[in-house]
Amino acid sequence: MSITQNQKTTIEELIGFDTTSVNSNLDLITYVTNRLDGLGAHLTLDHSPDKTKANLLTTIGPKDQAGGIILSGHTDTVPVAGQNWSTDPYKIAESQGRLYARGSADMKVFCALALAQFEHIAKEHAGQLQRPLSLVLTYDEEVGCIGAQNLIDTHGDLLAKPELVLVGEPTSLRAVSANKGIRCFEAHAKGHGCHSSSPDKGINAIRYNAKLVDFVYRVGDELKKNGVKDIRFDPAYSTVNVGTINGGSAINVVADECVFTFETRPVPGDTGETLVTRVIKQQAQIEQAFADASKGSGLSLNLDLREYVSVPAFNGDENHTGSRFLISLLADKNVLVAPFCTEAGVYQKAGWNTIVCGPGSIDQAHQPDEFIELDQVKRGANLIERVTQRCLTAA
Ligand SMILES: [Zn+2]
Repeated sequence: MSITQNQKTTIEELIGFDTTSVNSNLDLITYVTNRLDGLGAHLTLDHSPDKTKANLLTTIGPKDQAGGIILSGHTDTVPVAGQNWSTDPYKIAESQGRLYARGSADMKVFCALALAQFEHIAKEHAGQLQRPLSLVLTYDEEVGCIGAQNLIDTHGDLLAKPELVLVGEPTSLRAVSANKGIRCFEAHAKGHGCHSSSPDKGINAIRYNAKLVDFVYRVGDELKKNGVKDIRFDPAYSTVNVGTINGGSAINVVADECVFTFETRPVPGDTGETLVTRVIKQQAQIEQAFADASKGSGLSLNLDLREYVSVPAFNGDENHTGSRFLISLLADKNVLVAPFCTEAGVYQKAGWNTIVCGPGSIDQAHQPDEFIELDQVKRGANLIERVTQRCLTAA
């Protein structure tokens, strides 16, 4: 078994588009739509609000029938800036049984293999399809699963309930049925600037946001002690982290603004809402305490919380028919949890049975000289072929 010329070409073509998350993915999406043109596939493009990116959802077979299969991958990749690459990251370099390129593991090889197989079924087996086969390609996964969420919000009802969504993130072809979610926030403090020699004439935004930084960690400690636990994960509790803090302009100026970012990674069963509610309440208390202490000063302190990423935790059902079918095809039948966040939680929330499983190792994802073993490519192609053949049998 080796990969076909068509699979190889498709991999090379997808790798060739620099779809770092900050860039548009429209050239890649146009390439895919051109490939599928005239094959009778039902095609939906779902553009980002600024129209620079798009999700693609394409289906063949009896579209409105439940029990179909969806192959899902993200088109964006992490940046290569600041990384030391031995080869051109946007050109496949084959060496010693490996393919090196940005997105080789995460996750253009999966996207390419899925596209090639989808195209093959559309060309050769469309008349035999007993249930729908869909291909979903999303944007902005790496920056918070934004494309997948927009797709579900605007077109989630386009498809009848599938039997299986296969999210082909690199798991070394092992089934993953759960991952933590992620929610990211900016905490803004707006005070009042003045010269540091008369600090009472101003409000130091850093001072009040610092109280909130400490509070976030106090809630984090409580989540660790008393929060929801899922022992499949290490650590087994929902975590918090303050990632950045910015404020002030000089040593002799009372800072009028301060912003810090923090995240929480909720385990399945936790939504992160406890943390959010408590932080918002704490902000109100800090504002009130300031107002009480500075009556008549005419100064006011404003604290506000903005959420910019929200991906629910994923807790799939490994006993679902679709999951059991997928696992039956794998060499390693152990079902794992992933330490990283995926789009699976978004699909599960939409009521779609989902499993994460794809070729390549997460160890190589996001790294300089990212690669995928050719053996994984071959086995990934074989898995995708067998998964799609499910659509030729009745549900
Ligand atoms: Zn990925």
